[in-house]
Amino acid sequence: MSVLVYINSNSDKIAKNAFEAVTYASKIGDVTVVTNGKADDTMLAELGKYGANKVLVDRSFEGIDEQQITRMVATAAESTGAKTIVFSNDLIGKAVAPRLSVKLNAGLVAGATDVPKEDGTVAVNVFSGKAHGFVKVNTEKQIIALLPNSIQPEASGSEANVEEFSGNAGETKVKVKDIKKPEGDIPLPEAELVVSGGRGLKGPENWNLITDLAEALGAGTACSRPVADSDWRPHHEHVGQTGVAISPNLYIAAGISGAIQHLAGVNRSKVIVVINTDEEAPFFKAADYGVVGDAFEVLPKLTEAVKKF
Ligand code: FAD
Repeated sequence: MSVLVYINSNSDKIAKNAFEAVTYASKIGDVTVVTNGKADDTMLAELGKYGANKVLVDRSFEGIDEQQITRMVATAAESTGAKTIVFSNDLIGKAVAPRLSVKLNAGLVAGATDVPKEDGTVAVNVFSGKAHGFVKVNTEKQIIALLPNSIQPEASGSEANVEEFSGNAGETKVKVKDIKKPEGDIPLPEAELVVSGGRGLKGPENWNLITDLAEALGAGTACSRPVADSDWRPHHEHVGQTGVAISPNLYIAAGISGAIQHLAGVNRSKVIVVINTDEEAPFFKAADYGVVGDAFEVLPKLTEAVKKF
């Protein structure tokens, strides 16, 4: 079965969720990747190691105009005859997959967490990660948007053939004036380790407690929403229902109460460590390890201990 995967290749490296999507698709059928943007042929050929046979690259446009991308992926779906089209359920996937679903009259499975079973049902994440649903698409074509961090990228194969491709993307109505890159080396959705702070840290002047531990661990940094709303930290660090959803191997939360809206973005973390002075804080119910204690005392000790390793 032919499977088409869209990946975004507009930054100077291909993101982890692209390798996840290709690995995922390779468990369903023969994979062709379609992309536009900046990644050079050498970078794109690497996708072969994750299961792509071929990469179609449309060099006629850069950028993330979802209407152009929708038209390009539709053209690729037609030329490859793919019955399954896979996206990562990231910001672009969330914008393009529903548009493509309408254009191709193809059912959409959003937030998939596993490969389709033999009868075609796909497990999805629902109610902000509180439950699993199972979706079966009855249309001839199906679109699957894979939840980031649901599967591990697996590299074993050889390089893919990279071919120039015209996706008939058309004109863009979007004018990009400026691109601002977030601070820090580790994009939050890709971070394996995350250290996060809440209002319990009292103010931005104390954030070195979070960044010192993060630096010692090689972790990304995050925060609760009131912290970002108060401009203590930039908005791209805010995790939760209305912020970024993450699923690192380790999430350390200091001075965060654990409101349901916060948990919605972090409850897929493999191990959760909570530091809070209030033993009744709701976060302890979701924690694997909890320290009832003052973050101002616990965090520096933790940082020192990590530095000794
Ligand atoms: P607080 O609730 O003020 O908790 C601070 C915690 O720090 C307390 O538990 C306290 O015991 C502890 N503490 C105090 N001093 C110390 C100390 N010295 N050491 C250790 N612990 C200490 N929130 C999000 O985070 N993400 C979202 O995406 C989000 N979306 C929302 C969407 C909607 C529609 C709504 C209504 C709310 C949303 N919220 C979200 C807000 C959410 O409901 C909570 O208000 C918020 O998460 C609380 O942030 P906090 O835990 O940092 O602060």
